[in-house]
Amino acid sequence: MRCSVLRGIPPRMPVLCLVPLTVWGMAISPLSLASVAIHPVLSDSALSAPSSSPSLPATLQGTTVVLDPGHNGANASHPVEVNRQVPNGRGGTKACDTTGTSTDSGYPEHAFNWEVARRVRDALTAHGVRVVLTRPNDAGVGPCVNDRASIANRAGAEAIISIHADGAPPSGHGFHVSYSDPPLNHSQGKPSASLAQALAKAFRRGGFTAAGYIGSNGLYPRSDLAGLNLAQIPAALVECANMRNPQDAALASTPQGRARYAANIADGIMTWLASRQPPHRPSVPPTHQADLDSFFTTT
Ligand SMILES: [Zn+2]
Repeated sequence: MRCSVLRGIPPRMPVLCLVPLTVWGMAISPLSLASVAIHPVLSDSALSAPSSSPSLPATLQGTTVVLDPGHNGANASHPVEVNRQVPNGRGGTKACDTTGTSTDSGYPEHAFNWEVARRVRDALTAHGVRVVLTRPNDAGVGPCVNDRASIANRAGAEAIISIHADGAPPSGHGFHVSYSDPPLNHSQGKPSASLAQALAKAFRRGGFTAAGYIGSNGLYPRSDLAGLNLAQIPAALVECANMRNPQDAALASTPQGRARYAANIADGIMTWLASRQPPHRPSVPPTHQADLDSFFTTT
């Protein structure tokens, strides 16, 4: 999430997937993955759900989730657009977006976020969850953080989950999850906190350690993230790892590691969705991905 200098970091092209996958016991054929363009090689074990995951309902059909992969691949080469000031949700302004961080060897956060989000999308879709992404690929600019919240607010979704990795001092490692605090509406209170807690618990079930350098028990409520401040549905932001930490960077840099991060996030989202009785449905009509695609072309 932390970002500073603008650097020209080309996104890396992952390897085509040619092996069958298993996500939460559901087989996904290579052909089905062909429809989502390029996909890295994964192992079955890397994508398997943790054995201690709570039981999930047979279907989550009818629910919608917005996934927000942080930053974008062309942000670094468009500093004017990226540095444009936009509302921060608390009466001030902040930059439209940032470049994101990277590992010391140059693997960029925006690529990590994008690939993890695609994997989460595939896992959720396999369970009947409709997924809306805030950006269509990893080659564009933005969208601005306030527009990402607007996409979520228009999508008729149960929640938005932003996916990031941190750029903290190298000594710190582990995940943490943020939500808006103090809350600015009902969705940012207990609903967002419970979503963040579900994600943190899923990371622990997946064998991950909560960050020791920030927050408490993997949770870091904060007031300075515009996307969370402007959300009118439950919202959380996951910092999967600290890309400046050698241990975290090594895992984040492999397809198998990214599959594990994605499995944690999908596990947390589905556990949270299943815990809601009855499910909350926003009153706004759904916005289809095709409608959102026209938005992307203007940013
Ligand atoms: Zn980030």
